[in-house]
Amino acid sequence: MKNYKELIYDQSHVNGQWVSGGSGTFKVVNPADGTEVATVHDADVALVEQAIQAAAVAFGPWKALAAKERSVIMYRWYDLLISHKEALATIMTLECGKPLVESRGEVDYAASFIQWFAEEAKRVYGDVIPGFTADRRVLVVKQPIGVVGVITPWNFPLAMITRKLGPALAVGCTAVVRPSEETPLSALAMVALAEQAGFPKGVINVVVGTQAAATGKLLCESPLVSKISFTGSTRVGQILSSQSAFMLKKLSLELGGNAPFIVFEDADINAAVRGAIAGKFRFSGQTCVCVNRILVHEKIYDQFAERFVQAVSELKVGNGMEPGVNFGPLINKKAMDRMELLVSDALAKGGELLFGGKKQDNYFFLPTVIGNAQANMDFAREEIFGPIAPLFKFKTDEEAIQMANDTIYGLASYFYTQDLTRTWKVSEALEYGIVGVNEGLISSESVPFGGVKYSGKGREGSKYGIDDYTEIKYVCMGNIN
Ligand code: ADP
Repeated sequence: MKNYKELIYDQSHVNGQWVSGGSGTFKVVNPADGTEVATVHDADVALVEQAIQAAAVAFGPWKALAAKERSVIMYRWYDLLISHKEALATIMTLECGKPLVESRGEVDYAASFIQWFAEEAKRVYGDVIPGFTADRRVLVVKQPIGVVGVITPWNFPLAMITRKLGPALAVGCTAVVRPSEETPLSALAMVALAEQAGFPKGVINVVVGTQAAATGKLLCESPLVSKISFTGSTRVGQILSSQSAFMLKKLSLELGGNAPFIVFEDADINAAVRGAIAGKFRFSGQTCVCVNRILVHEKIYDQFAERFVQAVSELKVGNGMEPGVNFGPLINKKAMDRMELLVSDALAKGGELLFGGKKQDNYFFLPTVIGNAQANMDFAREEIFGPIAPLFKFKTDEEAIQMANDTIYGLASYFYTQDLTRTWKVSEALEYGIVGVNEGLISSESVPFGGVKYSGKGREGSKYGIDDYTEIKYVCMGNIN
C-alpha cells in the first residue's frame, strides 16, 4: 500500500511511460492555504499527439481481448483504487480543497464506475432480428467506437474521469485523458494504479498541462480520435462541439446546470432542509447538480427559511484536512470574486442577506443564504457553482413548474412533496435529465446521469452508459436456402 506522497507524480503518462512534454512546468496550489502541492511538467501538443498515436496503436489489441479479460484488469484496478482510498482522498483534498470526508466518498464513487463497467463489459449484448426475406438472417453487434478523448474538470478530479473510462475501457476503447490543470495529481495517481493493475501500454494515456484550448482542438480534429467525452462548462462544450463538427465526431457532453429545488406546501420541511443542505453545499456548491434556486411555497417560506438558515449556520467551515470540516474553500480566486459579484447584484435588486455573504482568507467564501430572490437577479439565470442559496417564493404548482423550467439548462432538478399525484405531474413536467423527489443526492454508478437543453447530451453510468462508446453494426447474411 503506498502513502499519498508515493502516489504524487509530476509528469504525463503516455504509452506506459512517464514523460515531461517539453513546455515548462506549472504549479498545483492548495486552495485552503495557498501552499504549493506540486510542480508538474506542462505537456505540449506534441505530447498530446504522441498520446493519440499510442492510444490508436493500443486500440486493436485491447478490443481484441475477450470481454472477460478486460473485465479482470478493470477489477484489479477497482481493488487498487479502493485499497489506496486514503492516499487518493488526501491528494484530492490537497489539490482541490474538498473536505476529506467528501474526497473519500469520491474515491468510492470513482471506483464504483470501474467496478460497474467491469461487470457490464461481459454484457454488451447484440441482437438477432427476424430476416426480412425468407433467405436472409440478420445480426446486430455492438463494437467499440475507437480512441476516446476525455476532457474533465477539477470538481470531481477522479470520478469524472472514471465515469468515462469505465464504459470506454469495458467495450474495448482506448483513451487520451486531459484532466483540469487545477487537479492533475489525482489523475496521475489514478493512472499509476491502472498501470499496476495491468492495463497494456497506450490503453490509458493521461496528459497534464495548461494548454487546454490547443489540446482540446487537437483531440477534436485528430482523425485518430473517434469520440470526445467532456464534462465542464457549456461554453467549452460548444467550442468542442463546433471543432468536432467537420468530422461529425461523436460527443458526450456533461455541461452546466441551474438546478431548481422546489419545496411544496405539503413537504416534510425537515427532510427538505436536509436535502437542500446536501444538494446545495456539497463541495461548497461546486458540482453541476448542485441546487441553484430554492423555490418555496409562500405558506411555508418563513418556516423553511428559518430552519434552513439554522442548518447552514451549523456547517463547519475550514481546511478540508481538518476533522469534522464539511465546508471547504472554493477552487480559486476567480470563483471567490464571482460569488461576491453575485451577492452584490442580488442585494442591489432587493435580495435579503439571511446568512454569510462574505469572503474570508485564501479562497474561502462563507455559505450564504439570500431571501426574496427574484428572476432578474444574475443567479436566477447563471449557474452559481458556489455556496450561495437563493430562496424564491411561489404560489401555485403551475408557477413553480414554470419558474423551474425558465432556464436554458436541464441537468438536475429536485422537489419535495408528500402527494402522489403531484409527484407524477411535476416529475413529468420538469424539463431535466434528472429529477430527485424527496431526495437531494442523486448520483450513483447505477443510474443514467445526464442533461437536456444546454446541459448537454449523452448519459453516463448505468447500462445506458455503454451506448455512447459503441457503434451498432448490422450484418445481413443472404442466400440461406
Ligand atoms: P469549469 O468551469 O468546470 O472549470 P471549463 O469548461 O472551463 O469548466 O473546464 C473544464 C475542462 O475543460 C478543464 O479541464 C479545462 O481546462 C478544459 N478547457 C477549458 N477551455 C478549453 C478549450 N477551449 N478546449 C478544451 N478544453 C478546455
